[in-house]
Amino acid sequence: MNMDRTIKLKLGVSEEDKETLKKTITLFNTVFNEVAQYGFEHKTHSKVSIHHATYKDIREKYPELPSSLVQGARDIACEALKGVKLKRIPVAKTFSSIRYNQRVITYYLKTESVSIATVNGRIKATFNIPECYRYYIDWEVRSSTLKYDIKKDAFFLHVIFRKESPEHSGNRILGIDRGIVNIAVCSNNVFFNGKSIKNVRGKYAYLRKQLQSKGTKSAKRLLKKMSRKERRFVTDTNHCISKTIVNMPYNIFALEDLTSIRVQNRKGKDFNRKLNSWAFYQLAQFFEYKAEALGKRVIYVDPRFSSQKCSKCGDIRKSNRKGSSYHCRDCGFQIHADLNASRNIAQAGISCLSRVSVNNPNVATI
Ligand SMILES: [Zn+2]
Repeated sequence: MNMDRTIKLKLGVSEEDKETLKKTITLFNTVFNEVAQYGFEHKTHSKVSIHHATYKDIREKYPELPSSLVQGARDIACEALKGVKLKRIPVAKTFSSIRYNQRVITYYLKTESVSIATVNGRIKATFNIPECYRYYIDWEVRSSTLKYDIKKDAFFLHVIFRKESPEHSGNRILGIDRGIVNIAVCSNNVFFNGKSIKNVRGKYAYLRKQLQSKGTKSAKRLLKKMSRKERRFVTDTNHCISKTIVNMPYNIFALEDLTSIRVQNRKGKDFNRKLNSWAFYQLAQFFEYKAEALGKRVIYVDPRFSSQKCSKCGDIRKSNRKGSSYHCRDCGFQIHADLNASRNIAQAGISCLSRVSVNNPNVATI
């Protein structure tokens, strides 16, 4: 099994090279349109026959476009013709994204630069790999798409990296409860609190209120910028927490399945907030990506009763939980409510696994 990951890199290029790249993209799309036109008129999407019919003419007409890019444009035009079953002519816009194959683009990931073939020979561009994506450096580059953002007058490369997934091994389970006050609480007693996120969000909420009451154009612009910043902050925190957790000595990470239909039975303001929050979903996504890369995995368990059930004796009572503390009326067990939930999640994960792998006698222990 292979793992593919896409990352978006903003390119640093000189003004002169920007013009060159624009020209390259425009010409690539021109070739795409001519090839698509030919294929449509001759009712074919065969790469071979279209190549024989058009390649020489196009090379003569646009000698500055490297042959690999001519072939690239032809290939995606053929795929597009096939995609619409030759019923209409696929059309590329002047600045539609273009695909680069490995022959015409070379990455120097360690020095964060890339050499790209253009209508004017190769040009060099720089980029920054965000800290959280550094581990892609030894992955194989599978494909690259160059995109020009007209509004920002900036170029981006969407790069797909590939690596073979490591074998799964072991079944030590860690239960993780996601929350608002504590972003993540693990069944091994590790807490990740949301204090800093809460502070940042509180600050933004206050500023937002002030700006909203102003209602001017510049206030709106500032609002937009703020929400982007706020999201980025949450994303960074999620990256950091998920990275720390997946590197703990466990192989399986159990989370609540917040999308399951049965969840609807569980009511409450707090829970609805959980469900609606993109931050929760994002954290789960990060867990999945990062765990997979380490040969580990994420499983989802039924979230019913995870906050009401006693993780020691199994008693289920709503009144056992009061805010952040859990006190079992049956066995007297006292514990932080989120930690109690995370232990229930781990236990649900264990029973979920033992149901699946009946042949595996090594039932996990926490
Ligand atoms: Zn109990």
